[in-house]
Amino acid sequence: MDDVLEGAVCGIDGCTPAAFDQVGPASGAKATLAIEVISDAICPWCWVAKRRLNRALAALGARGGDALTLEPFRAEAFPVTRDLMVDRSAFDRIIAAGGFISVPIGAAPDANAMPVRKENADLAMDAAACIGCGACVAACPNASAMLFTSAKISQLALLPQGQPERYERVLNMVAQMDAEQFGSCTNHGECEATCPKGINLNMIARMNRDYIKATLLRGRRDPGTGGEGVG
Ligand code: SF4
Repeated sequence: MDDVLEGAVCGIDGCTPAAFDQVGPASGAKATLAIEVISDAICPWCWVAKRRLNRALAALGARGGDALTLEPFRAEAFPVTRDLMVDRSAFDRIIAAGGFISVPIGAAPDANAMPVRKENADLAMDAAACIGCGACVAACPNASAMLFTSAKISQLALLPQGQPERYERVLNMVAQMDAEQFGSCTNHGECEATCPKGINLNMIARMNRDYIKATLLRGRRDPGTGGEGVG
């Protein structure tokens, strides 16, 4: 850490002593540090950098007046657990609400026994690329989880295996998403722009279509019931 404190600022004209040194011993003024760390939801380097920062601060020792501000990403449904860490188990509960197939299908069938349109297979594979990182929630001004939820719904809705529970699934997963206090979608598109896996807004459009259809089907079966909606 001494290297940092006693380092120099180097440019095309050569090196000059660091401003930190000039303020410190020369003037007698007490130099302090103010560090603000803002986490990125998906970048592992944040965690490497934080570990190194901790080591650097430990090497400096306790110094009065220094300020370290840790700023994790904020979302009502992702409570901060400690430092930069947030609890993303709300995603797990959305999956548990219906992001699976419960129909017994026996042994694995031959790959060619159940024809799937190439276009649907490709789209389902795109949807399945979602890694549940939460960057879409972090980027959205409403802290909406609709890109994540719609990807998990789409990956099954696009395949024959996902059809038997398709509309029950979308109702249950959207209800859980609402219960977790995620915000509604207002078409900012920040989620799509930030998603590391290229999940696009078409997934949300598909989820909305399925949700409307599921609500109508449920209303026909069970008149008088209503849903919270998908924002
Ligand atoms: S949709 Fe994209 S940003 Fe959102 S959780 Fe999935 S991979 Fe991450």
